[in-house]
Formats: sequence, C-alpha cells, structure tokens
Amino acid sequence: MVYDLIVIGGGPAGYLGAERAGQAGLNTLLIEKRALGGVCLNEGCIPSKTLLYSAKMYDNARYSEKYGVVSENVKFNHDKVIERKNKVVRTLVAGIKAQLKKSNVTILEGTGEIAGRSSEGYEVRINNESFIGKRLLIATGSMPILPSIPGVKEGMEKGFVLTNREILDIKEVPGSLVIVGGGVIGLEMASYFNSAGSKVTIIEMLDHIAGNNEREISDILMKTYEKKGIVFKLSSKVVEVKEGMVLYEYNRERASVEADKILMSIGRKPVVDGYGLERIGVEIENGRIKVDERGRTNVPGVYAAGDVNGYSMLAHTAYREAEVCINNILGKKDVMRYNAIPYVIYTNPEVAGVGETEETARQKGIEVEVSKISMRYSGRYLAENEGGDGICKILIDKKYRRLVGLHMIGNYSSEIIYGTAAMIEMEMRVDDIKEIVFPHPTVSEIIREGIFYL
Ligand SMILES: Cc1cc2nc3c(=O)[nH]c(=O)nc-3n(C[C@H](O)[C@H](O)[C@H](O)COP(=O)(O)OP(=O)(O)OC[C@H]3O[C@@H](n4cnc5c(N)ncnc54)[C@H](O)[C@@H]3O)c2cc1C
Repeated sequence: MVYDLIVIGGGPAGYLGAERAGQAGLNTLLIEKRALGGVCLNEGCIPSKTLLYSAKMYDNARYSEKYGVVSENVKFNHDKVIERKNKVVRTLVAGIKAQLKKSNVTILEGTGEIAGRSSEGYEVRINNESFIGKRLLIATGSMPILPSIPGVKEGMEKGFVLTNREILDIKEVPGSLVIVGGGVIGLEMASYFNSAGSKVTIIEMLDHIAGNNEREISDILMKTYEKKGIVFKLSSKVVEVKEGMVLYEYNRERASVEADKILMSIGRKPVVDGYGLERIGVEIENGRIKVDERGRTNVPGVYAAGDVNGYSMLAHTAYREAEVCINNILGKKDVMRYNAIPYVIYTNPEVAGVGETEETARQKGIEVEVSKISMRYSGRYLAENEGGDGICKILIDKKYRRLVGLHMIGNYSSEIIYGTAAMIEMEMRVDDIKEIVFPHPTVSEIIREGIFYL
C-alpha cells in the first residue's frame, strides 16, 4: 500500500501531524508502538497535571482556615487519585483515536522501522509487513536520560529507582522520595508527593532549581517549597544509589540521604536509534534529528517534529512543529519560530513565562528594561492568595520598546501566559499593550499594571 504520508510515533507531534494531513486529504498512516497520545498523554503532561490538581485541592482544603473556612479530617486517597488519572487518560486517548478516524487516518500498532527507499517512496516495516510512504514524518519523541551512576540500572530492575513512567503509576506514596534533578518534571513530582505525604529531597547539580528560568522566580519557588518541607541539596552530585539510600557529593565531601524510592529526572533525550534512520541517511546532530525552520531533514520528503528534533521538548512546541511540517508538505510555506514559546511549571504556586530572561537577553546582546512588580498589586491575587509573594517580571527591548519576555510566579499564570506569547509574536510595543483592556479583577491585570511602569 502506498501512502502520501507515513507518520512514525503517535505522540502530540505524530497524532496532530497525522490529523492535519488526513484533514487536508493526504492518505495518511500513523504508526505507534506503545500508546496513542505518546508521553504527553500517557506518562507526562496529562497524568502529572491530574495528580497535581488533586494535590492542590487537598492543600486548599487543609489550609483553608486562613480564608475563614475550617475543614476537619481532610484525607488524601492516592489510589483514587491514580484511578481518576487513568480515567482522564483513557478519555483523552479515546478522543484522539476518534479524531484520527474522523480525519481518515489509518492507525497501526507496532514498531515502525524504515527499511529503505525505492522509486515509489520510503519503505516502512511494521510487524513484518511493508508499507510505502511518499513522505515521512518522524515523531518518535524522547526518553528519560539514565546516567551511568552505580546502582541506577540495578535499582530500576529492583523497582526502587523510577522514571516518570513508573512514578506516575506508583501504587503507594513512598515514605521518603529522593528526586535526582530539580528541573520542571522533578519539581512537579516533588510538589505532588510533598502534598501526598512523602518526605521529599531534591538533589540538583546546579546552584539553583528550575533550569534556565528567571533566577528570582526560581528562588521564590524554592523558598515556598522549603517552607512546605521539601529539602533541596543544590550544587550536589549523585555518585551512587543503593536500596534505601542515595549518596552524593557536596563540596567534594560525601553525604547520603535515605530514600524509599528514587526518581531519576535529569533530562530527556530524542529517540533516534533502532528504527532505521541511517538506512535513508537522515542526519543526526548532537543526538537529535537535524531539521530546518520548515521541519525538513536533509533527506527530501522526510520531516521531523516534536522532541525528536531536540529543540524545545514541550508538547505545544511539538503541535506547532507538526503543523509547520504538514503545511510545507501541502506546499504552503510555513516556518517555525521559537521566540514566543511559553513554558509552565504546574507547582503550587504556578510558574509561567515566555521569551527572554534577563540572562538570555544579556547573552544575545539585547539591551532590556525590566519592570518587576509584586503580584499583590492585583486585587484578585490578594483576595485569593493569603500571604502570597508572587512576582511578575516584564522585559522590553530598550531600542524598540517591544515586549521581549515576561515571567511570573503565582496561580493562574499558566492560563495567562498565552496572551503574553501572542503579544511577543505580534511584536507589540509598550504603547500598544497600554491600550489593551484587561478584565477586572483578574490576576492578568498585573501585566497592565507592570507595563505602565515602563
Ligand atoms: C512527566 C512529564 C511531564 C510533562 N509535562 C509537560 C507539560 O505539562 N507541558 C508540555 O508542554 N510538555 C510536557 N512534557 C513534555 C511532553 O510530554 C513532550 O514534549 C511531548 O510528549 C513530545 O511529543 P512528541 O510527539 O514529540 O513525542 P512523544 O510524546 O514522546 O511521542 C512519541 C511516540 O512515538 C512512539 N515511537 C517511538 N519510536 C517508535 C517507532 N519506531 N515506531 C512506532 N512508534 C514509535 C513512542 O511510543 C511514543 O508514543 C512532559 C514530559 C514528562 C515526561
């Protein structure tokens, strides 16, 4: 069978790409070896957010007294939380399946393997059957990086070392949990298990958490979580794991911390091996598929989108990259831009941002002016966040007075940030933003407030 397009991988990049292609009339085949929806739906974005919402409800109930609401005997049922998470995942996966069917996409379960190229197109084998695609979209995603630290491999086999896949299905809340890596995934998991009752320790090699985030915001987040009982070991390197223990080095001295379970979350790497990319000569650079701004690899008709190209490793980036690929396949010129991709950390409080930070602006030689404002200037924030110390940082380009970055910590940030991304995308200037009417009272008004300081 000859298809117009074969998509390998059914995560956000793959299923959305297939859907758009099918809707546009391309005869499309989608191949997924594990679960439709990929990491995002099955073991990433959605399961983690479902868990975090339960934790937030629990915390709201437990600490409602300062809002004049007294709740007693509040209990947390982890089993029920996992059950509900599975239900949410099932519903969404079924929705994607239905949507793909409606878009006339053929779905096949199995591992897609590129066998070679003929005059008709690219040959892909699934379970010993051959299919030809005039074009390919590679969307095989990413997998956790597992360092070669002594004990990690054995710990995985014995079940006390986990990745995001296992921890999101864990049957019992561990008494103590050590998280190796203080990035977004580590912090979100720390947030859930801290609320659920684990004694959580985060070991991070850098001297700060949350990666390349605005440093002030990372510091506020860390202080908030320290108050909630999470222990942070910064500038510390894990050197060995044993059952019940993690050994690390700080200031060249060895120390250890007890751990019933250990979550490895030091980053993810693109999946580029084992399915025949080399047979058609797809160029790999630094462990990721090299693509241009239209999502094209070096091989004609072969595109790659999502985590596999290693650019941004976020589901919403994957969606847009897939759309760019399909548009170009359909002959519409479309290019990928990375300057206005928002990010969110779904901790409590939430952190969100888009565009340059002070540090990245400095690195790029962009002179910026910064407006930093306490979230307490927002009436709604004050009404809903007793004792909250959130901030919003707005960065504008000094030369053109255009918005180039915005970063905030405080709840609702996750829902607000897309508007700011649109402002950056539209290259809005301070004076344009001043004319926008924000609903009152909302936390989003903080942006309007902050912009008037510039
Ligand atoms: C714990 C966690 C939380 C996250 N939270 C968020 C979040 O809140 N927001 C956000 O934007 N991002 C989040 N992410 C990142 C997000 O999950 C990824 O960016 C997104 O899933 C990337 O989509 P993708 O389609 O590129 O790849 P994936 O989702 O990794 O999907 C790739 C698919 O390809 C399949 N596959 C691989 N090789 C083959 C083959 N040879 N044949 C057939 N199938 C194959 C795999 O089985 C997989 O299903 C999170 C990630 C994790 C781990």
